[in-house]
Amino acid sequence: MIQGKTLEAWYQSHPLIEQLVSLQEVSWFNPGIAPAANALGDVGLTQEDVRQASERLQRFAPYLAKVFADTAATGGIIESGIQPLPALQHRLLSEAGLPQVGALWLKKDSELPISGSIKARGGIHEVLKHAEDLALQAGLITLDDDYALLASDTAQAFFGRHKIAVGSTGNLGLSIGIMSAKLGFQATVHMSSDARQWKKDKLRANGVTVVEYASDYSVAVEQGRRQAEDDPACYFIDDENSPHLFLGYAVAAERLARQFETAGISVDAGHPLFVYLPCGVGGGPGGVAFGLKLVFGDAVHCVFAEPTHSPCMLLGVHTGLHDQVSVQDFGIDNVTAADGLAVGRPSGFVGKAMQRLIDGYYTVTDEALYRLMFLAHELEGVKLEPSALAGAPGIVRVLNDAAYLARMDIDATRLANATHLIWGTGGSMVPATEFAAYLQRGRALQHSPV
Ligand SMILES: *Cc1c(COP(=O)(O)O)cnc(C)c1O
Repeated sequence: MIQGKTLEAWYQSHPLIEQLVSLQEVSWFNPGIAPAANALGDVGLTQEDVRQASERLQRFAPYLAKVFADTAATGGIIESGIQPLPALQHRLLSEAGLPQVGALWLKKDSELPISGSIKARGGIHEVLKHAEDLALQAGLITLDDDYALLASDTAQAFFGRHKIAVGSTGNLGLSIGIMSAKLGFQATVHMSSDARQWKKDKLRANGVTVVEYASDYSVAVEQGRRQAEDDPACYFIDDENSPHLFLGYAVAAERLARQFETAGISVDAGHPLFVYLPCGVGGGPGGVAFGLKLVFGDAVHCVFAEPTHSPCMLLGVHTGLHDQVSVQDFGIDNVTAADGLAVGRPSGFVGKAMQRLIDGYYTVTDEALYRLMFLAHELEGVKLEPSALAGAPGIVRVLNDAAYLARMDIDATRLANATHLIWGTGGSMVPATEFAAYLQRGRALQHSPV
């Protein structure tokens, strides 16, 4: 029995679940999508909250520029570029037998400074928020000070009396661990079994305590949370429920709007924007999507992408059970090569708060991720890790779904003017040998579209 129903009864009421359980690639476009003006209020966070997060990141910019050389060029602002992907677009659409319409772009969060993944947005914002709260309370800084002051020995010694802990499959741990240790905090990262060795090594080299677990992400988070509860000096960053992570991600949208403006890309009713976001627990894609909806309203269509072995958000939203259900409850193993996406149970708040704002969800096999990784590298010269390619099939899924497009009132003219953005969530810091091994797997699959 799963939540009081047999598997057969679930297959009857939600036929899609049978496909999920058999690990087929599926797409599901949300019939409950609502206008942004009606649904943004569901989230419980506002434009003002995003503005405050953005200003906080601005206050910390002089500090970041001082302590992280790779942020100096952008004056301490942690941001990534965008790049068109014409050759990959041509390949994907011709393989699918679709006309060459619209324009495919990549958001290169793979190149974000400090930790080389989307987690450099949310994770770092929450560490900075906590550090700022402590430092203001202690009178170490005021809101008007130059935060480069926080690089002083006094500040380091102050933060050294405080602890930060997090549970992670890897990338969140990297961001939070590196940022916390740099400020002077005692940082502990609780790592799930699927975390890569190089990520653990990198953290330890940065002075972070790494605790390893033989089980998956939910257990690592749970153990970390429990240890932190017993220690009043320890602040636990809760990836499953954190508004400050969420807001750090949301800041991406206003910056993307400026990048589009510079690139001459319009986003409005006549020029829709489709954004394809790899989803693990949901905080990253949820936060980015929230920001995008605030900035672009109904002109932006956000679609989440998950591995076939870890479709936790799709399952949670589709059944309405959200964090009350895990993929393992349905016998799905949650074993995937997609770092950051091996999550069996979705966030307690993202799926619920955002369910009227997300256009759709789809799943991708690991083989497809490797293959797309190889193609993106071969055709466009971009270095992405497999999980970051989850967004790549999105353009095909959208263009193939006539019913969804009709329901959203997107006709041929609008499709011709559309921009499709793959959110490239990580990859620049993958060690060369590991990257070569990924490419080799992808190369072997290059002629077999799935
Ligand atoms: C964490 C992560 C994601 C997804 O973010 P969630 O907040 O877990 O949904 C996507 N891609 C990469 C590379 C990640 O590390």
